[in-house]
Amino acid sequence: MSGGILVLSAPSGTGKTSVARALVRESPAFEFSVSATTRSPRGEEVHGVDYHFVTDDEFDRLVGERALLEWASVHGRRYGSLVSEVDRIVSSGSFAVLDIDVQGALQVRERAPEALLVFLLPPSGAELAARLRGRGTDQADQIRRRLETALEELDRAEQFDYSVVNRDLSESVEAVRRIAEADGRSIRRDARFADTIARLKSEIEDVARRAAS
Ligand code: ADP
Ligand code: 5GP
Repeated sequence: MSGGILVLSAPSGTGKTSVARALVRESPAFEFSVSATTRSPRGEEVHGVDYHFVTDDEFDRLVGERALLEWASVHGRRYGSLVSEVDRIVSSGSFAVLDIDVQGALQVRERAPEALLVFLLPPSGAELAARLRGRGTDQADQIRRRLETALEELDRAEQFDYSVVNRDLSESVEAVRRIAEADGRSIRRDARFADTIARLKSEIEDVARRAAS
């Protein structure tokens, strides 16, 4: 298996960080692409492992030097994938795993059309809300904002190559691994895909409405 770029995107709370981290932990053919961000470290996060934590000026410099494959502002902070990091991993023959937001994923599509774009879906709107609450990192109003963003992100899901419903974590990791190995067992977009997106959107609208009241 030769390397490549594997982009994992999903509405916040779906589990993309969990899937990405498990994938790189379990399989030496996958390496996490450590992004640069202007946000501060949280909890146990380590510089160079979770993110390269940089100042606004440093981020401007990276943008100016075209050192980022893509970048986006997410909830007021900037995040970007380093070209140097992605190139190093891909040229070593591994998959560079990019855990990035949907705007960033679609920039990767433009800049590196050969990249594999995988969209993770929550099993249901209620489960997405439960995971956001269960993670315990967000206040109620932030959860509502993430659910609203989820609706916009789901509208872009059809631009991805594959989707995987993240029900059971280890099954999702396995499905993503198989996709990358071109043993595609998971769902290629098909006629039912639009129905799945429509159902999830209506469920999320429902839980967001209830969260607001
Ligand atoms: P994301 O990176 O998409 O925002 P996280 O990886 O932080 O999501 O996961 C959100 C929450 O959901 C976490 O508390 C995580 O432990 C949990 N989670 C992730 N995947 C699953 C799964 N398949 N089943 C149940 N809970 C999950
Ligand atoms: P967090 O602050 O919770 O670590 O990440 C917030 C969001 O930013 C998540 O959706 C995460 O996937 C996304 N993100 C992390 N790194 C990058 C990156 O390099 N580029 C883009 N576009 N998004 C990123």
